[in-house]
Amino acid sequence: MNNAQLNELKQRYVAKGAASPATHFADHARNAEIWDADGKRFIDFAGGIGVLNIGHCHPKVVEAVKAQLDKVMHTCQTVMPYEGYVKVAEKLSQIAPVRGHAKVMLANSGAEALENAVKVARAATGKTNVICFDGGYHGRTFMTMAMNGKVNPYQADFGPMPGTVFRAPYPVPYHGVSEDEALRGLKMALRTDANPKDTAAIILEPVLGEGGFYPAPATFLKAIREICDEHGMLMIVDEVQSGFGRTGKMFAIEHSGVEPDIMTMAKSMADGMPISAVVGTDKHMDASGGNSLGGTYTGSPVSCAATLAVLEVFEQEGILEKSQALGDKLAKRFSSWQQQFDCIDNSRNMGAMAAFDVVSDKANHTPDAELAGALCKKAREKGLVLLSCGMYGNTIRFLMPVTIEDSVLEEGFGIIEECLKELVGHKAGATA
Ligand code: PMP
Repeated sequence: MNNAQLNELKQRYVAKGAASPATHFADHARNAEIWDADGKRFIDFAGGIGVLNIGHCHPKVVEAVKAQLDKVMHTCQTVMPYEGYVKVAEKLSQIAPVRGHAKVMLANSGAEALENAVKVARAATGKTNVICFDGGYHGRTFMTMAMNGKVNPYQADFGPMPGTVFRAPYPVPYHGVSEDEALRGLKMALRTDANPKDTAAIILEPVLGEGGFYPAPATFLKAIREICDEHGMLMIVDEVQSGFGRTGKMFAIEHSGVEPDIMTMAKSMADGMPISAVVGTDKHMDASGGNSLGGTYTGSPVSCAATLAVLEVFEQEGILEKSQALGDKLAKRFSSWQQQFDCIDNSRNMGAMAAFDVVSDKANHTPDAELAGALCKKAREKGLVLLSCGMYGNTIRFLMPVTIEDSVLEEGFGIIEECLKELVGHKAGATA
């Protein structure tokens, strides 16, 4: 079927809330390239929102998935366990920098991992509340919708939200929230509504994902660790977007040296197969009884096979080094764009988790979400998949595979430059 026919089916049969506004349907993909149903080629700078750090259809993952399909596709792990699940658990326990010996439960999506992390924290502490952060994003289930930062459209039609979530400021000095202010806000929350005697956990992304690619300073993360210890709360770090090599280390929290009690991970864990994990200190993970964490499909044998293959690829292909090298290339190009174009500001990166903001007035950092949207739209027309995000909708984020070929990367950069010139022109005298 071609794009036009597929769009017609989409209009008629896919619920509006589930339908993509995009009109090009992916047909097949390799590494950082996608071809649509009409045969048009796209360069993928979005990586399925951070799912494809090792590229579309990595041959080693495809091979492992095919081999698993021939063996066993499904047996609910609570009924008849299988090798893949325990092997993934062993590996994640070894690589996740949580405090002490780690144990693992597997789920299907990021949101489901967060839901289970809250269950673990409640069972382990006997307390109910959680504290989350402005600009944070954790998913679209009820608990995770409530945990998302206030500036998001996800709660709009679905209230009321569970009432056990409190919020604190995330440090983003560029938007006027210093680290000191953020900590003061957190301490204020603990003195008022989010009383520590009722609060099970503080949950945060070490780098805001949907909120705009802002890394939390290591000192802020250390302060949270101390506050959690002081009050018997657990520190839960959501690495769904920042994990699996995006930031140049396996997990973003490693840049700070802080050891959380619990981590959640998903996305690039299995190169696109659905799987997620909660990895936490054994005494917390074991606090609830048998069969309380999981479900019919959690940690499916096929997704586990994909995860094990991904971990092998990380070792064999130096993915962390590639992520750092890509981050350096992005930073360099962004800073040259920042000089050339008045609308580009605040370029930043932690490894290959990289972004810049689109502004209408650089001196005042005035967000220009409309121009950011126009840039993404124009890029798509020219064959580049580009994504925005951020509390003000004006951040352009980069999540292309870290395995992207240099020539494809350059081609993508060229499209962005062309779009920017068409949309805003560039400074007199500057060379693109
Ligand atoms: N946490 C973070 C940090 C995320 O970025 C996302 C997805 N963007 C989620 C949780 C939710 O993951 P999923 O869409 O797989 O439920």
